[in-house]
Amino acid sequence: MKAFELIQPASLDAALEALPGARDTKARDRVKLLAGGQDLLGELKEHLIEPQTLVNLKSIPGLDAIEHRDDGSLRLGALVTLARIEEDRTLRERFALLAEAAGAVASVQIRNAGTLGGNLCQRPRCWYYRHEQAVCIKKGGSECFAYGGLNKYNAILGGGPSYIVHPSDVAPALVALEAQAVIRGKRGERQIPLEQFFTLPSEGSVLRENVLTSEEILTHVIVPAQSGAPWRSTYLKFRERGSYDFALSAVALRLSMDGDKVRAARLVLGGVAPIPWRCEKAEKALVGREIDAQTAEFVGKLALEGAEPLEHNAYKILLTQGLITKALRKLAS
Ligand SMILES: Cc1cc2nc3c(=O)[nH]c(=O)nc-3n(C[C@H](O)[C@H](O)[C@H](O)COP(=O)(O)OP(=O)(O)OC[C@H]3O[C@@H](n4cnc5c(N)ncnc54)[C@H](O)[C@@H]3O)c2cc1C
Repeated sequence: MKAFELIQPASLDAALEALPGARDTKARDRVKLLAGGQDLLGELKEHLIEPQTLVNLKSIPGLDAIEHRDDGSLRLGALVTLARIEEDRTLRERFALLAEAAGAVASVQIRNAGTLGGNLCQRPRCWYYRHEQAVCIKKGGSECFAYGGLNKYNAILGGGPSYIVHPSDVAPALVALEAQAVIRGKRGERQIPLEQFFTLPSEGSVLRENVLTSEEILTHVIVPAQSGAPWRSTYLKFRERGSYDFALSAVALRLSMDGDKVRAARLVLGGVAPIPWRCEKAEKALVGREIDAQTAEFVGKLALEGAEPLEHNAYKILLTQGLITKALRKLAS
């Protein structure tokens, strides 16, 4: 690992001061934000990044709060650990989908150290990206080696020119919960739907996975109160290893029911696209229907419409359709 300077800012403003300006694209890689370090330290050790400076967010007080607000909404600081999201009693009662997804991340040790902000901003796990010698398109090269290479774990939806999948389990659940991202930069604060936080490789820069500029920090995530009729939800994740692993495919599903019929639905996929993949057509098709075997199969197919598998990952289509069917049946029973 290359030596670096460690800045321990005492406030958000001090952290922002240490960051380069948004237009200074070359400086972007010289300064990196450090949260739990579960991903960043791996990148440093593998020489994927060699920043001159790390800004330790953990020295900033107040970014690790879980706030249950009077209006029923939830405000999470970016430094709240995944273990706390999994374990907080009120959060489990009101936002079970989020607690379930946080509990599906990696292992107890990683959830104890890994933070919400770090989980949402973690870099891709594609083995070409993670290989020190492979200068793939995500590292400034000209091609995505996964496209014509070993692509079992890569994207079937939204791919090109890079075919990474977003590795976060928490992100699909939060998008399904209609969460908002709060971002602080040198020029003030902005709040956007988390769904718009993530960017496809074909939008913006292929080098990044989200809208953050080099002078911005994700500070909070807000989950709105669950309005209307009670919502049911589930997070189903399929992984290759039983112990701990990233998702080959994952389904975050929320349904609001009117008797036996679906009143509203939110369906977001993980592990199959470079962003948490919202299936709006499938959501709309569910409204007004009873969930029987026929609906579940139809909606599963609709959700995967437009999938373009690579040579070794066509299995993800059937796998994801199966997970959607299973999730629908679980919430219908
Ligand atoms: C072996 C292993 C298995 C894993 N399995 C899973 C899994 O199954 N599911 C899953 O979802 N994740 C998994 N992960 C990823 C793990 O959850 C993340 O590495 C972790 O959540 C990152 O959080 P952190 O706080 O350690 O972030 P860090 O490693 O400190 O940071 C990660 C990245 O986010 C940036 N960052 C951090 N905080 C902010 C912020 N507030 N604003 C802007 N940028 C920020 C950093 O600069 C860095 O680029 C696994 C990781 C490992 C090592």
